[in-house]
Amino acid sequence: MEEIPLARPVLGAAEEEAVLGVLRSGQLSLGPRVPAFEAAFAARLGVAHACAVSSGTAGLHLALRAAGVREGHEVITSPFSFVASANAPIYERARPVFADIDARTLNLDPRAAAAAITERTAAILPVHIFGYPADLPAIEALGLPVVEDACEALGAVHADGVAVGGRGHPAAFGFYANKQLTTGEGGMVTTGDRAVKARIDSERNQGRAPDMGWLDHDRLGFNYRLSDIACAIGLAQLDRLDAMLAGRARAAAAYREALAGIEGLTLPCEDAAGDRRGWFVFVVQLPRSSDRDATIRALRERGVQSKPYLPAIHLMSYYRETFGHREGEFPVCEDVAARSVALPFFPELTDGQIERVALALREVLGH
Ligand SMILES: *Cc1c(COP(=O)(O)O)cnc(C)c1O
Repeated sequence: MEEIPLARPVLGAAEEEAVLGVLRSGQLSLGPRVPAFEAAFAARLGVAHACAVSSGTAGLHLALRAAGVREGHEVITSPFSFVASANAPIYERARPVFADIDARTLNLDPRAAAAAITERTAAILPVHIFGYPADLPAIEALGLPVVEDACEALGAVHADGVAVGGRGHPAAFGFYANKQLTTGEGGMVTTGDRAVKARIDSERNQGRAPDMGWLDHDRLGFNYRLSDIACAIGLAQLDRLDAMLAGRARAAAAYREALAGIEGLTLPCEDAAGDRRGWFVFVVQLPRSSDRDATIRALRERGVQSKPYLPAIHLMSYYRETFGHREGEFPVCEDVAARSVALPFFPELTDGQIERVALALREVLGH
């Protein structure tokens, strides 16, 4: 019996042709696919500008710099995220200040964020976790610069019809192989601000101004460039994005049906109040009575990959040791983090595979 993987990208002849085209052109970096991918991505989201970067993490770093985050500042963010969103402020010697999450959406709770504001707060960094739109209108009302971690949220739409990442704040997307769209490694920052676009374009390329020669640099920069090979793959992936998102949405609906009625099992929240999820992962919270490690082992014995997803960031050893965090600070996050398990989820997951996962989970939970 073949093991069902957690994630698998959709790649085909279009991506192969795109890569070959770049190889044959001889221009592997700083070529025409970069602005082409940026323009297509920005158009897709309905936002003015996009900057291709080497990863979602690099995008978060440059977006925070563009928002003015510096040493001694605080950035309010979610402890229930992939660690990159909390690490990014630390690159600038700013401090990530966590605030608890909303129990339904698992996104930063705007009231908890408001309570965490101090005179050192320079920005708020909401994460659209698992592709569900964070409550941006409430966060915007706090009146601070906003930088969005949209790395899991390509295809998500806010209640007002604006795409996640399309509100004009710098928003970072990630293109690692498990994301809705992949370039292998890669990322994109969207922004409504031409000056932010210019700054990020320069800082990703060693601080080079657009009109400067190769070896002239007027500010500190990094090498956070995305190659033409990656951008060509990204363009091919954009062409099939609607089909891939539809495949994920179909798999989610099938899971919902197949997992209905298991006592104590919490499924991902349904879309509400007009917000629409861009499906990224299918994460369930196990019943409080069950042993998560044993559940994951038993699923593996039945040919089903799964993993704890996500751990609470403030309880990771680096964060405990550096910032003195401990259990009990963010009870909603800690409860969710202790019970969450990601199930196999990708566009080409078949109904038969979903049935197998559901059957295995029912068996393991003694249902
Ligand atoms: C994937 C991801 C990132 C960034 O990932 P990279 O591997 O750097 O591209 C950042 N935040 C969240 C929430 C993510 O899921």
